[in-house]
Amino acid sequence: MQSSALLLQEHRIRPSAQRLVVFDYLRSVKTHPSVDTIYQALQATNPNLSRTTVYNTLELLTKKGLILTLDFGEGFLRYDGNVEPHSHFQCEKCGAVIDIMETAEGCEKMLPKGCTLSSASLYLYGKCMNCK
Ligand SMILES: [Zn+2]
Ligand SMILES: [Zn+2]
Repeated sequence: MQSSALLLQEHRIRPSAQRLVVFDYLRSVKTHPSVDTIYQALQATNPNLSRTTVYNTLELLTKKGLILTLDFGEGFLRYDGNVEPHSHFQCEKCGAVIDIMETAEGCEKMLPKGCTLSSASLYLYGKCMNCK
């Protein structure tokens, strides 16, 4: 995996320590956390990090296409450090969000013959393995 600092520089974002902490965290988890979850997870090890900085960093990274913003209609947004085309399954009971069709190739298999893929945003719902 490409280093987060390098990715930021390539997108003309100054790789400040706080931006790197947020970006690294999001790229390391598969839980699709909200801004509050990210803030709470990082607060213990980064006491100087503010919720506003977390939010502003997420906005910036989204604008530059380095992360995805997901809206499951929960009243808050979720963030995804995986920008490969893929889709999501959400558990209606516990709210867990799980990646499905995890690669571009996986999504392309769903397309009619001769069509090409540029992005994916399919949301499927049901009960996860823990709630079933
Ligand atoms: Zn569940
Ligand atoms: Zn995802």
